[in-house]
Amino acid sequence: MDFRDSPEEAAFRKEIREWLEANIPADWDRSQLSLIPPEDRVDMLRDWQRRLHEGGWAGISWPKEYGGRGATLIEQAIFNQEVARQKAPPPINVIGLGMAGPTIINHGSHEQKNRYLEKILSAEEIWCQGFSEPGAGSDLAGLRSTAILDGDSWIINGQKVWTSLAHVSQWCIFLARTDTTAPKHKGITYFLVDMSSPGIEVRPLRQITGSADFNEMFFTDVRVPRESILGEVNDGWRIAMTTLLHERGTLGFALSVGARVALDELIGLARETKKNGKPAFEDPTIRQRLASLHVEVESLRLNNYRALTGFMKSGMPGPEGSLSKLIWSESMQRLGDLAVEILGPAGMLERWDANPRVNTWQFIHLRSRGHTIEAGTSEILRNIVAERVLGLPKHK
Ligand SMILES: Cc1cc2nc3c(=O)[nH]c(=O)nc-3n(C[C@H](O)[C@H](O)[C@H](O)COP(=O)(O)OP(=O)(O)OC[C@H]3O[C@@H](n4cnc5c(N)ncnc54)[C@H](O)[C@@H]3O)c2cc1C
Repeated sequence: MDFRDSPEEAAFRKEIREWLEANIPADWDRSQLSLIPPEDRVDMLRDWQRRLHEGGWAGISWPKEYGGRGATLIEQAIFNQEVARQKAPPPINVIGLGMAGPTIINHGSHEQKNRYLEKILSAEEIWCQGFSEPGAGSDLAGLRSTAILDGDSWIINGQKVWTSLAHVSQWCIFLARTDTTAPKHKGITYFLVDMSSPGIEVRPLRQITGSADFNEMFFTDVRVPRESILGEVNDGWRIAMTTLLHERGTLGFALSVGARVALDELIGLARETKKNGKPAFEDPTIRQRLASLHVEVESLRLNNYRALTGFMKSGMPGPEGSLSKLIWSESMQRLGDLAVEILGPAGMLERWDANPRVNTWQFIHLRSRGHTIEAGTSEILRNIVAERVLGLPKHK
């Protein structure tokens, strides 16, 4: 297989590079992102996404009629590579772009596509994902939130947890049980819920990084219109699988380039940090760990090409995305651990808001704990890889 750009792809890459160079704000510094106060950060990232959309760079592979660029998945991947390489700001609406939007494209009616997609791209409406509940994370089909039809409305009750971005979202993709007598995978319906509906309470969860990007959500007699469902009543499990495949597959490509960039920076850190009077890079054990990380990041890149090939053939991300997410999350943990070790006591003791060089690595180290839990834990992903990628027998 030839991984080099065709002449058209090279021209596309050049166009993105030039656009990013001309448009990334002059004062932007990715290592400072976690230092920006949360409200300002949301405004700043929303403005950036609006600018991307106006430039025609949001929803690269989405249909043109719904505001996308109508480009190929390869071009989407090239875009992700360039954004990561130039350390451009991330878009604010990651769940809208990576999960809600693709699911609406796959399963929504024409009216729903018209209503929601363009506003996802422009970040006018931010989305969150209300799937997990206390007691229903890995065993998502065990969820207990309910929706009961009452005239022209559904009445929703229940509790969700770990809902990223719920505190700034206008819409939520939400799973609720609509048939309590059916087998657990069969009685679930997929809702598109307006977050301003009365009866929704959002409570932030503070993480070890100091930020509060995740939330608990409590739904008490929340009334939503009858047409707020995506697909058919009680067919929500099948539609949720589309969302999860996109979560692990579509986002994976951008993440792998991010891991490459982080590893290159880590190699730089090892060269410039002294350990026992010599650059840490000369320590054989550190070199060995850097070499292992290089192998992991390369295998991630190649697996992503494999996943992309499957996606282009079938039109849907495949189970290879679970392998990418698994390698990425565990590599990022090893990478963060090694960085903090190279920094020595400063990595643990220096104030994160006083030293940007330390702050980035502390953030990666602490945030990466959650990487092996979110979007499927490592154990669950290993089960998927064993059964659906390698074709091993199902566990009993
Ligand atoms: C940072 C972060 C962001 C998140 N964002 C969102 C979000 O926006 N929206 C959302 O809906 N959810 C979100 N989640 C929730 C996430 O999807 C769940 O935490 C995850 O699916 C695990 O579920 P759980 O926490 O209930 O753990 P459990 O499912 O209770 O798992 C506990 C342990 O048991 C293991 N285990 C469970 N079942 C099996 C099995 N069959 N085989 C082997 N081992 C098993 C797990 O691997 C884990 O180690 C987020 C989580 C985190 C940490």
